[in-house]
Amino acid sequence: MKVNYGATIPISTVDWHTRVSISIFFRACPYRCPYCHNYEYLSEPDIIDAAEIEKDIIKSKPFISSVLFSGGEPFMQIGALKHLAAFAKKNGLLVGVHTNGFYPEHTAELIAKGLVDKIFIDVKAPPDDVELYGRVVGYGEFEGVVGTPEEIVDRVTRTVDIVAASDVELEIRTTVIRRLIGSADDISMIARWVARHVTDEEVCYVIQQGLPENSMRESMRNVVPFDRDEILELAGHAHEFWDNIWIRVKDYGNEKVKF
Ligand code: SF4
Repeated sequence: MKVNYGATIPISTVDWHTRVSISIFFRACPYRCPYCHNYEYLSEPDIIDAAEIEKDIIKSKPFISSVLFSGGEPFMQIGALKHLAAFAKKNGLLVGVHTNGFYPEHTAELIAKGLVDKIFIDVKAPPDDVELYGRVVGYGEFEGVVGTPEEIVDRVTRTVDIVAASDVELEIRTTVIRRLIGSADDISMIARWVARHVTDEEVCYVIQQGLPENSMRESMRNVVPFDRDEILELAGHAHEFWDNIWIRVKDYGNEKVKF
């Protein structure tokens, strides 16, 4: 089994809050978000044998409880993802996947096979504002975006609906970047949308601080990140529609917001 492979963090406490994981990053993605800092994963392939990754999992196993797949977009390589998720499960480890929501059928398949315990879905912009969603995933700005904004929003919606209807744990996240995505209206719209699609109150909606200094769009690299207070204010807007709000800021880590 071959994998278009990005990197591995042998022991991570930040990629899956509450768990110690090995984090495995796959290359390739159907989006081209202007703030992407893993953009070298989007074009240059690096094909390795899955056995190399299996060895890394075994090395980390004494120190971890889970394997976290990120990217890039892990569901873009469903064969490799199923293979490695099955390997993790066989070794008694939990499996988590970070996804941009573009692959509802692959997500459903991994859930149906019992190969995943938690799915973290990026809702990158308000799905009710299709044009903005397109801009945030680089549609019309960079080559390589797969599908139209309408198709992307439809796929993300179906992915959230599939995970929300399953017994797999779900987290929904939005990365906020000044002057691109993260106005009070944007966050309110996303939280209102979450409330329409998710019934389990345990599902976290996380507002993440975007750090644009290594962005794919060069002109974005000097944009000042939202600070914690600004993100807390956004959390207040989200809270009008959803109770379980978290923020994730580089210097403070994960915080559940108390209202
Ligand atoms: S979803 Fe966006 S930020 Fe994530 S890897 Fe793809 S292009 Fe980069």
